[in-house]
Amino acid sequence: MTAGGTRPLIGVLALQGDFREHEAALAACGTASAEVRTRAQLEAVDGLIIPGGESTTIARLLLAYELMEPLRERIHAGMPIWGTCAGAILLANDVPGLDRPPLGVMDISVARNAFGRQIDSFEADLDVSGLEGGPMHAVFIRAPVITRVGPGVDVLARLSDGRVVAAREGRLLATSFHPELTQDGRMHLLFAAMVADAARTEAA
Ligand code: GLN
Repeated sequence: MTAGGTRPLIGVLALQGDFREHEAALAACGTASAEVRTRAQLEAVDGLIIPGGESTTIARLLLAYELMEPLRERIHAGMPIWGTCAGAILLANDVPGLDRPPLGVMDISVARNAFGRQIDSFEADLDVSGLEGGPMHAVFIRAPVITRVGPGVDVLARLSDGRVVAAREGRLLATSFHPELTQDGRMHLLFAAMVADAARTEAA
C-alpha cells in the first residue's frame, strides 16, 4: 500500500513557481499528481517534485508553511524527490548566496544564476544518461549549474562545455533545466518509475 492509495501519487510542491506545468506534464504521462502546500498533503504523497521558480522565495515559503522540517524528514525516510532549477537549488547541501538554508539533502554544490545576464535563458540538446530515444531538448531559465558532486552522486547530463546540469543520488534527482516546459515526458516518466520503485520497496 502506498501513502496515496494503491497507485503511487506524485506530489508537486505548489508554493511558488511553475508547479502547474509539472502537473500538466505528469497528466500527459498518465501519472496521478497532487498539489502539496500542507503537512497533511505532504504525508499523502509517495514522491515530490519541487518546481522551478525563485529558490529564495520557495525557501522562505517552506519555512512559513512549516514544511521545511517535515519535508527533510520524509526525504531522510526515503521519499523520492526531484528538483527542477530552483528545486535543484533547494536540494543541494551547498548553495553560496542563498539567504535561507536550503533543504540540504543532496551532496551537490550548486551555483545560482550561473549563466549570467547575457544568456539568462537558452536551450540545448542533452544526452541524459538512462534516457532512451536520443538527446533531450532542454530549456534553461536563469539556471543554476551543479559545480560539485559528492561520491554517491551520478552525473546524468552535461552541457557541451562539461558543466553538470542533471544528477541523481539514490532517490534524489536534480535538473538545472525544465522538462515540464517541453513536450518530452521522459524525465517525468523516469521520476514516476523512481517513485513506483520506492513504493514497491516500502510495501515489500
Ligand atoms: N534563478 C532562480 C533561482 O535562483 C531559478 C530559476 C528557475 O527556477 N527557473 O532560484
